[in-house]
Amino acid sequence: MADQATATKGTTLGTGTRPDWEVVVIGAGVGGIYQIKRLTDLGIKAVVLEAADDLGGTWYMNRYPGARFDSESYTYGYSFSRELLDEWHWKERFSGQPENLRYLNHVADKFDLRQHMRFNTKVVAMRWDEPTHTWELSLEDGSTMATRFVIAALGLLSIPTYPRYEGMDSFQGPSFHTFHWPHEPLDLTGKRVGVVGTGATGIQVIADIASKVGELKVFQRRPNWSSPLHNGPISDEEMAQIRARYDEIFETCARTPGGFEHEPDRRGFYTLTPEERKELWDELYETPGFAIWLRNFREIFFDEEANAEFSAYVADRIRQRVKDPVVAEKLIPKDHGFGVQRVPMETHYFEVYNQDNVELVDVSETPIERVTPTGIQTSAGHYDLDIIVYATGFDAITGAYDKIDIQGVNGEKLAQKWVDGPSTYLGILVNGFPNFVMLAGPQSGSASTNFPRGIESGVNWITSMLEYVWEHDKTRLEPTPEAQEEWTEHVKKMYGMMLMRKAKSWFTGYNSNVEGHEHGKIRYFVYNGGAPKFVQKLSEIADAGYSGVEFD
Ligand code: NAP
Repeated sequence: MADQATATKGTTLGTGTRPDWEVVVIGAGVGGIYQIKRLTDLGIKAVVLEAADDLGGTWYMNRYPGARFDSESYTYGYSFSRELLDEWHWKERFSGQPENLRYLNHVADKFDLRQHMRFNTKVVAMRWDEPTHTWELSLEDGSTMATRFVIAALGLLSIPTYPRYEGMDSFQGPSFHTFHWPHEPLDLTGKRVGVVGTGATGIQVIADIASKVGELKVFQRRPNWSSPLHNGPISDEEMAQIRARYDEIFETCARTPGGFEHEPDRRGFYTLTPEERKELWDELYETPGFAIWLRNFREIFFDEEANAEFSAYVADRIRQRVKDPVVAEKLIPKDHGFGVQRVPMETHYFEVYNQDNVELVDVSETPIERVTPTGIQTSAGHYDLDIIVYATGFDAITGAYDKIDIQGVNGEKLAQKWVDGPSTYLGILVNGFPNFVMLAGPQSGSASTNFPRGIESGVNWITSMLEYVWEHDKTRLEPTPEAQEEWTEHVKKMYGMMLMRKAKSWFTGYNSNVEGHEHGKIRYFVYNGGAPKFVQKLSEIADAGYSGVEFD
């Protein structure tokens, strides 16, 4: 077997035997794929365990119509291989799910990484064994395996959450979460479709299917600020220009807080006249991607007045696009300003509501009472439906960790430790859970930037830390409680400055469908200092011999 063929660099157990693996990576998404490449390139005996039946993570699961990058495609791809950059042609500026999955498969095949992956392999529990410095993993099929290190590449948004309406199981037609959109073709022609939820996912799916279905009912509890994506094809000539610019593109991404090509406008909101500000916003509204969010004035993120002025600008844009003024008002958020929640990007989303076959059902006014065998009952009436789509979000950031029974030193449970929110060192390590390493974990900078950019820097740092362990003949690493406390306090403090702290968003741990994640009690989920500061911090810590981490 290829597994056996893999070199077995690593150290022996206290008992004199080797664990089955030196490193187990959980998850074969964007992070797991790159992590296993780095480890196996070093000759480490490592394997990826993936619960799904193939690789791709987010891009394997989310097959709903309209699923595509909100990141410029060429800033989303891996940067580690010049050959890969030179041979891959992104066909669209914001590439769609099928192409994205093809890309990840291409990477795995090109670097022969599938041999190191086991699919349909779900880790259900992990127990730390102190005497041998190993983790014992229990798999869903009842088997176990021992490993020195675990790298959790679980994804930030990989546990979908459904509403808790009475009668959901009684619906006679197909009904599913967008994450579980059927892999086989689903004919929507002439169908009466209900979509619950208007986050980034709902907005993509609604805009895509509105012209394909018979009738579309959108059940909206709260509207989201959203602005045009401006997608388009990338010609051969443009792709050649992008390839020639790759070094510059990745340098820019490394310099900007969000890990994109978009750099904040640092002129200062109040140094300009309202007309000058509007000039910038007119330009940004027509610029592709997250420019409107990330090339904007920085004050938008922490100054109520600045944010209100910009939100009013976007509200006017929505009013110009939606013919019925009553519907337009319903589509304009009133409880939060632009950009304090993750901004969904849209393609003709607002125009959808000008179509005769589309109806916006405001379930904040007329709540959903139950799902019936034939549709959805609100307090105002019954909506007959053939298909129900739940675009109702995820148990974000910590949800995937909570799903595994992770027991650290003295049997302490991670889910219990984090019951009121995570505490970590750098979003990478947790005190009491030795040799457990998180890729884009809670409170890491990798979780709050253009994901692949954050993931690459995370993987590289983690791999270097493990090399340090192996070079120094150590078998155990754990962050100190002090280092963890300091980092968590730092993360909390940054929330204090941001308007986002008040928002009902997964950035603050809000999810009405998850017990204990109601609005009002912030979970400090992400590092808001931006990618460059995070990477700088990581490098200082590495240079100091991994300060804050104890090795044994
Ligand atoms: P989300 O932003 O959490 O939105 C969930 C939506 O469902 C909200 O409109 C929410 O309403 C609604 N909802 C939840 N429970 C409900 C209930 N019981 N009854 C009625 N409505 C309910 O989730 P998402 O849209 O899946 O997006 C999550 C994240 O995934 C995004 O923020 C983004 O980071 C990522 N994403 C990325 C892309 C991309 O890069 N292209 C695309 C899609 C998603 P409330 O607002 O009232 O809670």
